Amino acid sequence: MRLRLRIRGIVQGVGFRPFIYRIAAENGLSGYVRNRGDAGVEILIEGGEVSIRRFMRDLKVKKPPLARIYEIITEHLEGEPQHERFEIYRSTGESELSGSVIPPDVSICEECLRELRDPGDPRHDYFFITCTNCGPRYTIIEKLPYDRENTTMRDFPMCSFCRDEYSNPLNRRFHAQTVACPKCGPRAYLTTRGGEPVDCGDPIREAGRLLSEGSVIAIKGYGGFHLASSTLLEEPLIRLRRAKHRRQKPFAVMARSIEAVETFAEVTPKERELLKSYMRPIVLLRKSDDYYLSDMISPGLHNVGVMLPYTGLHYMLFDDVGDPAFVMTSGNPPNQPIIKEDSEALRRLSRTVDYFLLHNRRIAHRCDDSVVRVHMDKQALIRRSRGYAPSPVILKEKIRRCVLGLGGELNNTACILLRDKAFISQHIGDVENIETRDFLEQASRHLIRLTNSEVEVVACDLHPKFTTTNLAKHLADIMGCQIFQVQHHHAHIASLMAEHDVEEMIGICCDGYGYGLDGEAWGGEILFCTRESVGFKRVGHLQKQPLVGGDLATRFPLRFAAGVLYGHADVDDWLMRHADVFPHGEAEVNVILNQLGRKRSIQTTSCGRILDAAAAILGVCYERTYEGEPAMKLESSAMRGRDVLKLNPALDGDVLETTSLILEVFENREKLRTEDLALSTHLYLARGLAMLAVEKADELGVGAVGFSGGVAYNEIIVSEIRRAVESSGLSFFVNEAVPPGDGGLSFGQAVVAGLHHH
Ligand code: ZN
Ligand code: ZN
Ligand code: FE
Repeated sequence: MRLRLRIRGIVQGVGFRPFIYRIAAENGLSGYVRNRGDAGVEILIEGGEVSIRRFMRDLKVKKPPLARIYEIITEHLEGEPQHERFEIYRSTGESELSGSVIPPDVSICEECLRELRDPGDPRHDYFFITCTNCGPRYTIIEKLPYDRENTTMRDFPMCSFCRDEYSNPLNRRFHAQTVACPKCGPRAYLTTRGGEPVDCGDPIREAGRLLSEGSVIAIKGYGGFHLASSTLLEEPLIRLRRAKHRRQKPFAVMARSIEAVETFAEVTPKERELLKSYMRPIVLLRKSDDYYLSDMISPGLHNVGVMLPYTGLHYMLFDDVGDPAFVMTSGNPPNQPIIKEDSEALRRLSRTVDYFLLHNRRIAHRCDDSVVRVHMDKQALIRRSRGYAPSPVILKEKIRRCVLGLGGELNNTACILLRDKAFISQHIGDVENIETRDFLEQASRHLIRLTNSEVEVVACDLHPKFTTTNLAKHLADIMGCQIFQVQHHHAHIASLMAEHDVEEMIGICCDGYGYGLDGEAWGGEILFCTRESVGFKRVGHLQKQPLVGGDLATRFPLRFAAGVLYGHADVDDWLMRHADVFPHGEAEVNVILNQLGRKRSIQTTSCGRILDAAAAILGVCYERTYEGEPAMKLESSAMRGRDVLKLNPALDGDVLETTSLILEVFENREKLRTEDLALSTHLYLARGLAMLAVEKADELGVGAVGFSGGVAYNEIIVSEIRRAVESSGLSFFVNEAVPPGDGGLSFGQAVVAGLHHH
């Protein structure tokens, strides 16, 4: 019997060919296996029927841990056997199938870590030790198929020792494209801030010592540069904050071990599982009572972002020091993508850092660390990037048209939707300038090539002026396909429905801003969405409030608070007393008071702005220096609170009132504890939104309620909405596979555009 199999899935760069070779040999079959230019694998097997059946079973049951099989296309061939044994053939460039993809970067595996630590091993202390089950993939590949010469590893010809392992079917590095050793592989070296080599025998451990003593070091990793420093000393952190123009934004830390994490943060079993997973994301953990890292790491927040080492290099940084963790924040200039070129790092970071810890392998594609938060044992992805991208989210339903989704404006990603797979790019960032726009375009093109897709529709936001909307028009032109615009909050809820395979949903969608159907600023919406008609109806929302001074009301939430309170409370004196909050002091307050009187501001239903306003009234945060800051700090405060106000949500038809809430907070700000008022604010919004949603679900006969948008990262609001919805006997959904924030928009847009019949 002769069979030709073509396999679609994640089958390159995961030890798949060696595995096929092994099971073919074990079952006494002959033939060949080879990688294809479409990221799939082709197998020819010849032998007895029983042996082939066993082979097919082994193929499904014993496949390597990182491999994913989406489809096996089987063809019976006529004629006599032509092969005497089984071989791994040279890869072919052929590519008529679509939908396979290469794996994400994978953290160092246990076996490689053991070898790294074994003084007798030829790769003892080798910082880039990898095997077929671990190492970089997505960040090193330049083109398909995934062979060494198509990756940035091609600059490192294998030595005879590595080549022997590479070609030995019994070795665990058989056909591992990233195989390397101290003799032939990439080298690490330390330089001064000016790029002068520092003479030391052990650059990595030397860097660890320097960090421990207070240096700031730019460290080149798999997908870009990190800026690293001590987590205990103030001086380097002050410098880092100044250099990054980050007064308050939290820094992630990398801890030496899980035991070290437990000395400063609380870790639940689910969080531990994520920390130790091969994706090695940054996990937001609750600070423990005796938290002892510097307060400058995540100022004003109850949690801290922690990850574990994911390369040999990271482990070695801690070898000669006692530090529990180092700061590891991505090295990107403000509003720019993470730096990946040595020359750019030297140019842009040399004033910030004392040293560079470099290696001489090029980075083909940049990739930031992923960030995730866990509540009630469910993960909320804040950033789905390294370790995840480009592996797909799998849908329950096949979509007929191939769509490229370009996302919104902030925290962007791109998404290729092909049949039942959504391939989502790494984190791109805020697409507001030429650099991030180019990065988005490159990442989109790379995804199209990797999956061998032919895009039929380009989906984007409804906003007429977003950079992504313009890019969508440009790409649709070039590719000769349609463009499809999707409303921001509809895309959020569509992502949720697709992820959970729900037909109809009352979606609660809360965030900072999204362009509404009426051109107004939306952000606290109740939408009725159906898959059948691929449409949505806005069935409720938060009360409209004036954005006094437009974008300034977002940056200085006291402005927004004043707009809400104006006419209901005497804000003049109160604003004057807070004049130092504003850059232009009393003069600015006078301008604001003037603006209030004229009542000509843009209106918004944003839930984020309401949380920000409460944060400002309570003095928790007066200036938003990073996205979400006031609301995040309000949540941290509320974590310690009790619900003293016990407010009943005030509904005015389909509108949840917010003036009464903000007024209560304002009037009680000096009488009651800040923490308690913070909690009451959360509960008012959560209960009000849930009430509206449940009411609409009953009215329309819908059984599912979902919650998406950036506010869905808020643990208190999610839990309270969940409680209220489930106690009404309805099902409740949140995003788990894609971010509920704007990182999930490209996926939601692609789903809506793909389902639309035109
Ligand atoms: Zn390994
Ligand atoms: Zn070698
Ligand atoms: Fe959003």
